[in-house]
Amino acid sequence: MIIGSHVSMKGKDMLYGAVKEALSYEANTFMFYTGAPQNTYRKPIQQLKIDEAKALMHENNIDIDKVVVHAPYIINLANSIKSETFDLAVRFLKEEIDRCEAIGISRMVLHPGSHVKAGEQVGLDKIVEGLNMVLEPNQHVHIALETMAGKGSELGYCLDQLKYIIEHTKYNELLGVTIDTCHMHDAGYNLTKFDDILAEFDELIGIDKILVVHVNDSKNPMGSHKDRHENIGYGYIGFDTLNTIVHHPLLKDVPKILETPYIDEHAPYKEEIDMFRKQKFNDTLK
Ligand code: FE
Ligand code: FE
Ligand code: ZN
Repeated sequence: MIIGSHVSMKGKDMLYGAVKEALSYEANTFMFYTGAPQNTYRKPIQQLKIDEAKALMHENNIDIDKVVVHAPYIINLANSIKSETFDLAVRFLKEEIDRCEAIGISRMVLHPGSHVKAGEQVGLDKIVEGLNMVLEPNQHVHIALETMAGKGSELGYCLDQLKYIIEHTKYNELLGVTIDTCHMHDAGYNLTKFDDILAEFDELIGIDKILVVHVNDSKNPMGSHKDRHENIGYGYIGFDTLNTIVHHPLLKDVPKILETPYIDEHAPYKEEIDMFRKQKFNDTLK
């Protein structure tokens, strides 16, 4: 099982510190933002301590091909109303792709975007337009469009929308999907029937397009469209369903990333990863 969590890249150690944090959770992969998720300020690549980080990853058998970058969530390729927002999204995504290429990252998670009241179809076509502006046929990094909860005017809350984006983008061999369990549950998918969801996914998009799984429980009932993550086993999805997903044989090679909330300023990831390795819920976490 390839499993880790969101970790932070900060201070002097940057990516080297992110690897150390992942190792402290006994993870064998991790996900990071290249800077603050809510803004587009980024340190130059030379300051990220990439070589030190790679050496530490190599020593600990962390495969860079399974490491994930999450694009900042202020990027909105679906905004057809404000051209500055769309232009910034395109520009930033291009730079983020370059950063990923420099590090050697092959999987980048991206929220498809919000149509901000222009209508779903207009938003979907704007996303396609934006992706067509950033993807280059020879790039290494793949963009994994995240399944969303359908909060506000968010797009990507159903597989048909992700299929539409992928089908209409030119270099769509560079596109994939991130399955977020909390988001799918909140969007109305019944995760206790995960085999049916995978069958539908395979028919619409193709199972080999699943590049990342975000493993989160949910604070809200199925179909709530809320997007509030809960610790593993403490929410409406529950440990058993999440455990089945992380151990699903068809997703064996796909990195699983926890994005569950801290508990009293303590990262829960070491314990949550351990629960999945032992396949047993530990209800002493909170
Ligand atoms: Fe996300
Ligand atoms: Fe997520
Ligand atoms: Zn979320």
